[in-house]
Amino acid sequence: MSDSLGKPGEACGVFGAFVPETHVANLIYFGLFALQHRGQESAGIAVSNGQRLTTYKDMGLLSSVFDRNTLAGLQGGIGIGHTRYSTTGSSTWANAQPAFRAIGPRSVALGHNGNLTNTAALAERLGSSGTTDSELMTSAIAERIHKESDIPLWEAIAGVVPDFEGAYTLVVMDDTSVVAVRDPHGFRPLSLGRIGPDGWVVASETAALDLVGATFERDVEPGELVVLDERGVTSHFPQDPVPSRLCVFEYVYFARPDSVLAGQNVQAARVEMGRQLARESGVPADVVVPVPESGIPAAQGYSWESGIRYEDGLVKNRYVGRTFIEPEQMLRERGIRLKLNPIKDVLDGQRIVLVDDSVVRGSTTRQLVEVVRAAGAQEVHLRISSPPYRWPCFYGMDTSDRSSLLAAGKSEEEIEAFLGVDSLGYLSLAGLEGSVSDATQTFCTACLSGDYPTPIGPDKFVLE
Ligand code: SF4
Repeated sequence: MSDSLGKPGEACGVFGAFVPETHVANLIYFGLFALQHRGQESAGIAVSNGQRLTTYKDMGLLSSVFDRNTLAGLQGGIGIGHTRYSTTGSSTWANAQPAFRAIGPRSVALGHNGNLTNTAALAERLGSSGTTDSELMTSAIAERIHKESDIPLWEAIAGVVPDFEGAYTLVVMDDTSVVAVRDPHGFRPLSLGRIGPDGWVVASETAALDLVGATFERDVEPGELVVLDERGVTSHFPQDPVPSRLCVFEYVYFARPDSVLAGQNVQAARVEMGRQLARESGVPADVVVPVPESGIPAAQGYSWESGIRYEDGLVKNRYVGRTFIEPEQMLRERGIRLKLNPIKDVLDGQRIVLVDDSVVRGSTTRQLVEVVRAAGAQEVHLRISSPPYRWPCFYGMDTSDRSSLLAAGKSEEEIEAFLGVDSLGYLSLAGLEGSVSDATQTFCTACLSGDYPTPIGPDKFVLE
């Protein structure tokens, strides 16, 4: 599955809050609002008033799942929230999150961003045919509490996370605390913020902290487990450290431009990718045109670095993908134009540098090149502000089928011919990494390099 412009889907946004004496569901709702881009299939919130944990979740966008009445029914000052994009398990109500378990008098709710890579082994150990990795993790925590009924939530989680392999950023709660965890590689981001005199929040991205009026405190570290409760914030590291591997694609495409990941603003990183792309793959041309909206910052960087003027030559219909009518059924012949329409005056007779942040499956890009040519472009030079996406992601993106990836097993010349462009230039891996951080941060680049930070069984690779 992918978004309407052929990009991979994200795997979820998570939010957690401990803000006593408030109706925290409203705050979580707005936090999730800032994380809607990380998952649009379902949304859910769980809250506790110290005695009773209540969960509400449903399919659809946040604004269609929650209204004034449902939010009013979620009473309490402790809570977690989740927006979901399914990468394992089907897109059904049962798989929406937070996942919930009642264990005797205690209750646990869990929200997950990422994908485990040892789901089958975990299911076998738990004797469960659990539908998703998130459900299995919830079962593992519940099983630990079942064995020791008064164990603190954080200790129960610390006891089971060594059994999880792969990518997991979790928010978990019981009646009295919220626990947030990042896997030791730190594939998915998580930030900690302070709100009011004694409130704390965690969120997948700093933009969500901004939106609820929280002050950024720090990132939750890879491998760190933080407890938010009446004592404030307590930190634990239950596992041995490994090299951190923040997903580099968070900077390329997934994260919001106004978020700061590992100290680096995402928008600034994208502009720098465009500048570096111009240094690596310059070409004589008349105008730089972005593929909106994902290609805009890189196109600006490319233009500023190359001195070639920037113009908007394609207009995105923002509401496509927000309709329940499948456009392909209704307007098949209109194809890509339903999503992106060209501005002929900008493109006609011009040598175009067309800039996008990534090409994953390629069919949309090919149609787009045809549209730009049909609008009169004399030459189309495609520039991509990331390296070829050749390998599947097993850490929370929906690209696990390698046969669907345009660049898998193809040379750049073959890709160029498929897309029908006059020239093609990708940003180098070194250029990408240099654009997104100082020298101390290390990344997962597996989809671009084939270098997987965790063991991946051969059965995971699907090739035609
Ligand atoms: S494989 Fe690619 S998309 Fe997946 S976590 Fe690594 S860098 Fe991110």
